[in-house]
Parts: sequence; structure tokens; C-alpha cells
Amino acid sequence: MQDYKMLIGGAWVGASGGESFETENPYLGAPWALVPRATTDDVDRACEAARKAFRAPSWAGLTATARGALLRRLADLIAAEADRLAEIETRDNGKLITEMRAQLRYIPQWFHYFGGLADKVEGRVIPIDKPGMINFTREEPLGVVAAITPWNSPLMLATWKLAPALAAGNTIVWKPSEFSSVSALEFARLFEKAGFPPGVVNVLTGFGSEIGERLVSHPHVAKIAFTGGDRTGQSVYELAARSIKPVTLELGGKSANIVFKDADLENAVKGVVSGIFAATGQTCIAGSRALVHRSIQDEFVGKLVELGRTARMGDPLLETTQVGPITTRSQFKKVLDYIDIAKGEGARPVLGGSQASRPECGNGWFVEPTIFADVKPSMRIAQEEVFGPVLSVIAFDDDEEAIEIANDTQYGLAAGVWSQNIKTVFTLAQRLEAGTVWINSYRATSYLSPFGGYKRSGIGRESGLTAIREYLQEKSVWIDTIGEVANPFVQR
Ligand code: NDP
Repeated sequence: MQDYKMLIGGAWVGASGGESFETENPYLGAPWALVPRATTDDVDRACEAARKAFRAPSWAGLTATARGALLRRLADLIAAEADRLAEIETRDNGKLITEMRAQLRYIPQWFHYFGGLADKVEGRVIPIDKPGMINFTREEPLGVVAAITPWNSPLMLATWKLAPALAAGNTIVWKPSEFSSVSALEFARLFEKAGFPPGVVNVLTGFGSEIGERLVSHPHVAKIAFTGGDRTGQSVYELAARSIKPVTLELGGKSANIVFKDADLENAVKGVVSGIFAATGQTCIAGSRALVHRSIQDEFVGKLVELGRTARMGDPLLETTQVGPITTRSQFKKVLDYIDIAKGEGARPVLGGSQASRPECGNGWFVEPTIFADVKPSMRIAQEEVFGPVLSVIAFDDDEEAIEIANDTQYGLAAGVWSQNIKTVFTLAQRLEAGTVWINSYRATSYLSPFGGYKRSGIGRESGLTAIREYLQEKSVWIDTIGEVANPFVQR
């Protein structure tokens, strides 16, 4: 087993307590690497290193153009290593090699884009109402950004934070998920190779339950950028509030894929199936509710089952595999518990509905692609995020009811609309309470387009032009050009 070190202040180090933990391969259900178990002392060291780097001329003194060039150099290094990093991600989180490879090959675009944006952030000159005064603004970095990331798309979701934060001139303490630390550590090597000064990017591996609180509340940390579950997100937000820190939170979802009776059903079936079974449902944007017009419900469910049944499960490292294992033991148990809950609530399983015991699944943590019909909007299976390959089909009778059901959850991350009617799609695009709405498609994301949640799905936006603003603060500078300060005791 390879024994990894973490990155603090430009040095590869073990945890100060001397401990490491095993990271497991979900397909084999067995450990494959050792990773340092950071302590709160390590958090202090990393935050100190990041603050020092933030103030050091080697980073603070770089022009925005030079910062951008570093990011673009990094992009090229990632592109060259993409397939190797993808394989590590698959070994660590069990997601399909085809998906992780596609993600890794796409990640460089974020670093190119934000690298290009770094020197296009401009302040303003205000036509100020005080004679003889010049007033202008500067866009300045916040300082040390704590990036806390999950296991489902580890490097992609980290990239969404690191690229704009670094382009803006911040420094980073990155805490990857305990279930996907190895790819983070390998990725961090590329920052060194690209020439980022020591301490600009620090990686702390370990358990969120042990070091998360210290990191979020650390006095040197100026901002928290978090992706993960909404309960953890809530506690991060509460802690951040105590020290008045801004946050970007990208949390869960219970996204609706809404199929109208005039939809192209063949396309809609493919969209709904990929919306829930791609990534084994372990994605924040999973289209975990299919809202289907009652008149086509039986036909549509029949088609979903027909396609869902063809999914090939097995070794995620094989290119032919279409549905991989669940990433963690506890998530595996959680998904099976939700299946039991749904059955108990009276939802009717029409596909799957159990652990997968196919020979090609070995000892891995596999759940059969599962579809429940006859789901009522009030059921827990229709309200709570499962984060697994479990689809709830809910019937609706008219457009108003579809909108009502779609919006009737605490989440608001994404939605899909399947219809050929321009009025329907435009109305839905306006009225759905979701940060992203896909029309006759599902799952597209891009470095160019903002991504984030409404309601309990999160705060702030990642990707696109506005994302860099999440990592900047505006300073107002006043210059007196008259050279004569008035007597403070004489009112003008
Ligand atoms: P968490 O929200 O617990 O983990 C996300 C990140 O937060 C990890 O790096 C984790 O570290 C860290 N963390 C954990 N506790 C704290 C804390 N107290 N303070 C600061 N950081 C902390 O997600 P899980 O992995 O446990 O998954 C739970 C659920 O979250 C899933 O079932 C799913 O519903 C949802 N989820 C949503 C994701 C999304 O993309 N929106 C991604 C992943 C999960 P560590 O791994 O060491 O615990």
C-alpha cells in the first residue's frame, strides 16, 4: 500500500500526531492506500502557511497576468496527467473510469478560463459628488480560502473552487473528503510543478469530524467554499457565522425531471435514466424524481424499466461498465435504508429495489438501479436526498400541478423539462425554483455557466464570470487632490 504525505507550506509531511488512515477501494471493498490523519495542530500549521503565502511578495507581488499564466500552465499539466488522475479517482471512489476520465480531461478548461480571467477583473472610477476628490475601487482577494470538498467528483468540485479563488489571488487550505484524498494529493503535486509558491495551496487530509470545526473557525481563514451534504453545510454555515465569514455552499438536491405528454419520449427516457443512474446516482444534480404526465405514465415507466434493466454493473475500471458501486460503506447502507423506507411508505418497486448480487459485482458495495412507481410527493423518498441509484416516479395531471410538485421540496438545485411546447418550456424555465434548468437535456455543466442552488441547495455560484466575485472584496479608495484639509471644528 502506498503511504501518502500531505502538503503544508510547500513541504510533504505526515500528520503531527503520527497517524494515518486507510482509504478503501469500493469495488474491492478493501483498503489500497494510507493517508495522513491531520490533527487540529496541522490545521493551524496549514492556515499559518496559507496566510504567510498570501502576504508574501512571491504571491501577493505577482501581477494578475503572471497569476493567470500559472493557472494556465497548471491546466496543461493536468491535461497531460488526466488519465492517470482519473484512474486514481476510480480506485478511490468507485465511479466509472469513463466518467472520471471525461471529468479530468475537462478540468483544464476551468484553469484556462479563470487563468484568462485573472487580469480582466477591473475596479471602477466613481464620478464622486465631492469636488477635488477622486474615488476608485479595487477588487482584492479575501485571504485564505478553506475549500472543503466531497467524494463524488473530487477533483472537479475542488477545481470549481480553486480555479476562481487562485485567479483572484487568494491562497488555499484544501480539505478533501476522507474517501477521496489520494487524487487530491496527486493533484497538489501539479501545483508545485506549475510553479505556485509554497503555501499557496495546502492540502490537509483527515476526518471532517476531527478537523472541520477548527478549519472553518480558524481566525486566519477568510472564506469557506464547501460542497457536501446539507446537514454538514448547515453546521459549516453556523460556525462561519460566528466569525462573520462569507461562505459558498453547494449542497444537496431532489431534482425533478418533468416529462410532459408532448415530449419526445425516447429522448426523455434516456435523459431521465442518465439523470439518475449516471454516477450511480451519487451526484448533487441527480434527477431523483421523475414527474410524468398521468396519461403517459404507464408507457413511460415501461420504457424506463426497459432501458434501466440493460445497465451493465461491475468493475468501474472497465470501460464497458455502466453502473458502478456506491462509494462508501455508510452511503451503501443509507441507500438500502431508503429503499426500505420507500417500500414501507407504499411506493411500488418496478425495477431493482435491493443490493446487487450479480457475480460481476464481487464484494463491492453495489445497489441495483431502482425505480419506484406510485410515489406520492409527500413521501420521504420524494423529499429527501438519497444520493444513490433510486428514482421516484410521480404522476401529475396538468402544468400547474407539475410546477407545484417540482417546487415542493426544501431543495432547489436543478430541474429538467421534457416538452416540445415552447410555451410550456418557457413557463417552466421561469417558474421552477432551481439554480439550473435543462430543457430537453439533463446534466450539462460548463466552466462558462454559473452553477449553484436555490433554497436549501446552497449559497453562491461556481463557474462562469460571476464565480470569481465569490473570492473578491471591493475596496473604495478616496484621494484628495486639493491638498487642503478643512478645520474639523468648522462645519462646511
Ligand atoms: P459531508 O457533507 O459529510 O462531506 C463533505 C465534506 O465535508 C468532506 O470533506 C467532509 O470530510 C467534510 N466534513 C465533514 N464534517 C465536517 C465538519 N464538521 N466541518 C467541516 N467539514 C466537514 O458528506 P458525506 O460524504 O458524509 O455525505 C453525506 C451526504 O451528503 C450524502 O449522503 C449526500 O446526500 C450528500 N452529499 C452531497 C454532495 C454534493 O455534491 N452536493 C457530495 C457528497 C455528499 P470527511 O469526508 O472527512 O467527513
